[in-house]
Amino acid sequence: MTLRIVTGGISQETNTFQWEPTSLEDFQKGSSAIHRGQGILDLEGTGTIYGGIIAEAKKHDVELIPTTFGRSVPGGRVSREAFETMAGEIVDGIKNAGEIDGVLLGIHGAMALEHDHDGEGPLLKAIRDVVGPDLPIIAPLDLHTNLSEQMMELATAFVGYKEYPHIDTPETGARAMEMLVETLQGKIKPVMRHVKVPVIAPNQSMVTTWQSPLKTIIDRAREMEQEAGVVAATVLGGFPFSDVPYTSISTIVVTDNDPELAQKYAEELAQMAWDLRADFEIDPVPVDDAIQEAMNGPEGSVYVLADISDSGASGTAGDGTAILAGLLRNNAKSAAVAQIMDKEAVQTCIEAGVGSTVTLNVGGKHDGLHGDPVEVTGKVRLIHEGSFLMAGPMGAGTVAGRGKTVVLEINGRGGIELQISELRGHPNDHNYFRAFGIEPTERRILVLKSAAHFRAAFEPIATKVIEIDAPGISSPKLAEQFDYKNLRRPMYPLEKDFDWSPAQAR
Ligand SMILES: [Zn+2]
Repeated sequence: MTLRIVTGGISQETNTFQWEPTSLEDFQKGSSAIHRGQGILDLEGTGTIYGGIIAEAKKHDVELIPTTFGRSVPGGRVSREAFETMAGEIVDGIKNAGEIDGVLLGIHGAMALEHDHDGEGPLLKAIRDVVGPDLPIIAPLDLHTNLSEQMMELATAFVGYKEYPHIDTPETGARAMEMLVETLQGKIKPVMRHVKVPVIAPNQSMVTTWQSPLKTIIDRAREMEQEAGVVAATVLGGFPFSDVPYTSISTIVVTDNDPELAQKYAEELAQMAWDLRADFEIDPVPVDDAIQEAMNGPEGSVYVLADISDSGASGTAGDGTAILAGLLRNNAKSAAVAQIMDKEAVQTCIEAGVGSTVTLNVGGKHDGLHGDPVEVTGKVRLIHEGSFLMAGPMGAGTVAGRGKTVVLEINGRGGIELQISELRGHPNDHNYFRAFGIEPTERRILVLKSAAHFRAAFEPIATKVIEIDAPGISSPKLAEQFDYKNLRRPMYPLEKDFDWSPAQAR
């Protein structure tokens, strides 16, 4: 019997410290997109959740009915208009689909709305109101999900990414689809239990390209998944730059109709996270120390200086200047910067034209939280419309965009190549350089505005990665830099002297 499964969703990670809301228009520019109908099915073969969902649907006798799938680069709270427009299209799609067997939802897990601290809960509510309490709804979740009680109440099952950088998005999408098919075929009866751990952690300690504390817990979750009766074991690091009541590490275990086992394992993973809490703290490197180390490195070496506090994929301004100022101060050579967002500066360079020399102030204009504007003089070497195809380990086959982009050459050939873009970017692919005529393997210093996703593509070519201490709203210094008002308290590391156990959270 053919299974009729409706799919769609809204995927955005919200940094509530970003003042600018994410509008419907923002969902349709740069690297963001709203896929409608056939547009969702056209994601077949891409390095996205839908790459996996569609492939898995084809393995089984599934008719996949697409509605609307909006995905936006991380940013401020999603506007009411954007949410209601896309949620309305999804609900209408379900209503118009006729008799259906299940819903496969494409969400992130850390979305907040202008009018609600939760984004996924309200979306699930809108869908539940139409499909009723019993129709299975299953979704893959981003590792940075801030899990709400409403999400847990309204979904049938979740399975989260286990890799950060998220190189397993297609795989996780496929697993969610497989779980849904097995549920509909009566092969499993998923029951789900979760524990929220009172710990917020910086992104860098969630990375899985090294044995980070989060990876240690995820490794145990993978072991659990090998056991009979365990359908999915998920460890969510949470997204710490969201000042909402759901923000924290959490664990979810789905079993085949065994609530006690699900509870036991969710608690075991939660206890591990609590026990490792002190290991999640991160100590970034002062900018001048990092630049000096890179400049004194061996011939042919490539140093990645990660601007982790102004990460494009964490919804920051994208116009942080601390590392650029350091490069100028240290007279750095062979340095390439991806990138500084500054629409005004891009316009100035376009008006001046290719080949002309300009002096201008770049960056530091969006919110004053990412360093001051920096005066630079350079030659406009390239003016680019801004879009290019991704080819690396994340999002392959999708189009990335930063709006119009300029390469400014500072201190001559072999000096600093500064990319200035209209929109903030998230350099997690070599094409963030190559598409603009810069060969990343041949530069001594690569400055990347990225918290960790850059590692999938750039660790293999880097002599060393250095995480820089710079100002910004994705800084790892959570207790010092952020004024949280809505978190559950106590919350480590904002409070350090308190006891907790998973049993207490029951
Ligand atoms: Zn994530």
